[in-house]
Amino acid sequence: MRKQLVEELRRKGISDERLLAAIGALPRHFFLDKAFEEWAYKDKPFPIGNEQTISQPYTVAYQTSLLNIKKRDKVLEVGTGSGYQAALLAMLGARVYTIERQEMLYERAKALLSKLRLGNIRCYLRDGNKGLPEFAPFDKIIVTAGAEDVPQALLEQLAIGGIMVIPVGEFVQKMHRITRISEEEYDDQVLANFRFVPLLKGLNKMG
Ligand code: SAH
Repeated sequence: MRKQLVEELRRKGISDERLLAAIGALPRHFFLDKAFEEWAYKDKPFPIGNEQTISQPYTVAYQTSLLNIKKRDKVLEVGTGSGYQAALLAMLGARVYTIERQEMLYERAKALLSKLRLGNIRCYLRDGNKGLPEFAPFDKIIVTAGAEDVPQALLEQLAIGGIMVIPVGEFVQKMHRITRISEEEYDDQVLANFRFVPLLKGLNKMG
């Protein structure tokens, strides 16, 4: 089933072989609720609780391709959710720092990622709008929730030469690929439309 998913992504235009191999090796069904397990290798998003979703594999692959991950890259992810995207980044050799604002999702992803022993993934229960200033700068930043604007803190925490991939917009989001050219200058490429759950403010410790 994983092979079929890889073929589907290839047909939809994903061409990075190292990325396709990682998707082909990562068991997505571990990251889903039992109820959705049998559909884990469909190119579809699914609910993961607390009104959140695991992104569609095509979206994960698209965002990851734009990041052009190199081994040892220091990568910040905002929106841990199920942990699938973080796991994929780690499989590509990145050093991953991932932030989630919902305690229940944070606890669950942290436990699963440590059980899978992928290494090099650190989970934080924080408001991702603020990034992780104590670990900046990051070579790459990926935001997996729809932002109304690009958070200033994330722009500041991007290394010079670094790339941020972030969906921006209120109801439908346009994917932005932002490259930091110098201390002051950023190049902003506006790409395809997607639909993400919203990037919210503050923490949710309600469970
Ligand atoms: N990358 C995830 C998909 C995430 S869905 C995966 O692979 O499964 C988006 C996630 O962003 C949700 O879990 C949501 O709770 C989280 N989120 C929304 N606003 C946030 C914020 N300000 N800081 C951190 N996480 C946030």
